[in-house]
Amino acid sequence: MTDTIFGKITRGEIPSDFIYEDEHCVVIHDINPQAPTHVLVIPRQPIPKLVDAEPEDQSLLGHLLLVAGKVANDLGVGEGFRLVINNGEGGGQTVFHLHLHILAGRPMGEDELSAQFA
Ligand code: AMP
Repeated sequence: MTDTIFGKITRGEIPSDFIYEDEHCVVIHDINPQAPTHVLVIPRQPIPKLVDAEPEDQSLLGHLLLVAGKVANDLGVGEGFRLVINNGEGGGQTVFHLHLHILAGRPMGEDELSAQFA
């Protein structure tokens, strides 16, 4: 499988400020933030896309959600944030190492995604 920049970041080969880390994942600020708070939860295990996850990845995927909630709380946005996973080019994914976006600090009810499901 091809390595990505997130592989290098999680292995510490590219210096990066981890705002959270544990044995399974790291959390960093997005380099091109789309909201006042925009951080990425990145598993150390390089699953390319969500659809590539296997049943044995179930506990890792659950862990990533728990970390997202904890980090959102720690960042002071626990009462209002959006969690996004882009899957595949058609889903807007650009780095093919699974990651969760936590977005907060601007109204999330006034954009394209919300309008689509209103
Ligand atoms: P996605 O489009 O879902 O694959 O998201 C990839 C995200 O990674 C984008 O929001 C980028 O701004 C972000 N990104 C790319 N390179 C870096 C980097 N070196 N450090 C932090 N964020 C990055």
